[in-house]
Amino acid sequence: MPDDCIFCKIVAGELPATIVDEDERTIAFMDIAPATRGHALVIPRAHSADLLSVDPQDLAAAALASQRLATRMRERLRVDGVNLVNSCGAVAWQTVFHFHIHVIPRYEDDPLQLPWKPAPGDSDEIAAAAEQLR
Ligand code: AMP
Ligand code: ZN
Repeated sequence: MPDDCIFCKIVAGELPATIVDEDERTIAFMDIAPATRGHALVIPRAHSADLLSVDPQDLAAAALASQRLATRMRERLRVDGVNLVNSCGAVAWQTVFHFHIHVIPRYEDDPLQLPWKPAPGDSDEIAAAAEQLR
């Protein structure tokens, strides 16, 4: 683990965290700067920087843990919806470089907004990007 990774320190018990779920591969704890009430983070116990380098089995385990937590949020916090968010790279708003999934409860009256304005795209440009992705 990198010496300066705060999430590895949480896994190791060297930094405090409010843990709400654990399994063999993952832990989940409350975000210290919540977007909404109940905002939690799911991380693999093993260090990897981001979506592009996370072990596929850890990624699968983190997805399942996120679903588990979302289900519990619906049952116990009475949330109206949930966003799963992952930021990969500084340009994509990642600030902690230990892979994590934000599990963000959503409420009818919460103040969160989509960070982009949906508008019809140029069909040639969409097709060109698709050609590169196929
Ligand atoms: P990101 O910006 O997607 O990399 O997300 C990092 C998240 O980690 C932010 O939402 C922070 O509020 C959260 N965070 C940073 N340090 C801690 C900590 N010690 N305990 C809990 N959450 C943290
Ligand atoms: Zn780490």
